[in-house]
Amino acid sequence: MDKSDGLKHNNLSPLSRDGVDPELEGVIRERLGYLREKIDSLSAPGKVKIVSVTKGFPVEVTRAAYFAGVRDIGENYVQELVDKYRLSSDLLGLTRHFIGHIQSNKLRAISEVSDVIETISRPSELERLNRLAFRGSVLIQVKFDSDPARSGVPSDKVLELVELGRNLQLNIEGLMTIAPIVDPKARGEVFRLLRVLCDNLDLPECSMGMSDDFEIAVSEGATMVRLGSAIFGQRSTKN
Ligand SMILES: *Cc1c(COP(=O)(O)O)cnc(C)c1O
Repeated sequence: MDKSDGLKHNNLSPLSRDGVDPELEGVIRERLGYLREKIDSLSAPGKVKIVSVTKGFPVEVTRAAYFAGVRDIGENYVQELVDKYRLSSDLLGLTRHFIGHIQSNKLRAISEVSDVIETISRPSELERLNRLAFRGSVLIQVKFDSDPARSGVPSDKVLELVELGRNLQLNIEGLMTIAPIVDPKARGEVFRLLRVLCDNLDLPECSMGMSDDFEIAVSEGATMVRLGSAIFGQRSTKN
């Protein structure tokens, strides 16, 4: 699907560096380099994709990140994602990951501006993506605890969802999880379980690990880590 359909174009010229703060770009480049080195020391070099999580930061940060070499960004909030998309649709080759909680009435908007949706956890969401003819990548979010307040599908229901997605010919690329905030050993266990599920289901992408625990996740076989504060610093507002 042409993602620019129905969306207004901004008035920045293509690949304009206008408004990009060179100092910010430099800081992002430096932190990314440091993180990349760390990650590559724990896994086969280049195996792990860094998704740079720009939620809570203005679009100027997205633009600076792009010019610092970022090609995968993550966003959590639909309105923020849509607003920033409009202001950065000239950044060719930027892959946008939706990593937030999904409300089904927002799925159309999400599908229009995302290349990867990482947080699918219900059959109805897959059916809706199918009706929307979503051609991007889909990851299923898995949870390994029984807290009903947490997003994700329990691990014993993952197979069912993956099969449904495949039958609908959606691009089910992998699984994603957020480790519960517990001691590092328990996080390692959660990451290990996700890795086993990916292997058993023959899914290439294993999205796990954030700024606090990406080293554990990479050691356990992550193919994508989602890093926000480690690259951009503390977010001032929500989450
Ligand atoms: C916010 C968020 C991240 C990034 O968090 P940091 O701790 O800042 O790295 C990663 N994944 C998800 C799902 C998030 O909501």
